[in-house]
Amino acid sequence: MSEASPTSSPPQVESFTLGPYATNCYVVSVPGGRDCWIIDASFEPQPLIRRVRSLGLTPVALILTHAHIDHIAGVRDVLAAFPRLPVWIHKEEERWLGDPELNLSAFTGMPVTAPGPDRVLIEGDVLELGSSKWRVLHTPGHSPGGITLYEPASHIAFVGDALFSGSIGRTDFPGCSFEQLASSIREKIYMLPADTRFYAGHGEPGTIGHERRTNPFVRG
Ligand SMILES: [Zn+2]
Ligand SMILES: [Zn+2]
Repeated sequence: MSEASPTSSPPQVESFTLGPYATNCYVVSVPGGRDCWIIDASFEPQPLIRRVRSLGLTPVALILTHAHIDHIAGVRDVLAAFPRLPVWIHKEEERWLGDPELNLSAFTGMPVTAPGPDRVLIEGDVLELGSSKWRVLHTPGHSPGGITLYEPASHIAFVGDALFSGSIGRTDFPGCSFEQLASSIREKIYMLPADTRFYAGHGEPGTIGHERRTNPFVRG
């Protein structure tokens, strides 16, 4: 079975780098469509909210790549702007939104909780946004419920804090495992086509092929 080649009108991705940890949050839409996803909601998400409104888009899900504080601190603000927006997260972090110790905010002096989730995700789920279809890959290690979203038609992936351009996610927090993260990267993320463009929770986008060859922490 061969993968489809990138289509001529791939999903559109806009990134917003928010808050004291410079966390990338994303708005994803499909050309010609009105629906969008918001991927992660960091501190002070107003620029993202304003942009969604100015584009006339309707958010249909807030998808969390994982529930560390810097990816969920803006969930309440996003829900205040878009009140019925469902929040989706991997099953392994179902309880993290409501638990400041699990989401690490307890250790920052500013405990954060958020409502939800409304849906839990597992490996193999297929999520549809307009004509695009995204596979959920469970990529734990940086956190137990970290996910990667991959769209085979466009070769676009969102990898959360598992993999960065030239680096990988931290594994010195509670619930982290370097061995597990290295396995997630080698066995799932690096298995994506070389020209896959990946968008991470911090830093610049990159391609899977480049990371596989040059990442100093996990070689392909
Ligand atoms: Zn994280
Ligand atoms: Zn992060």
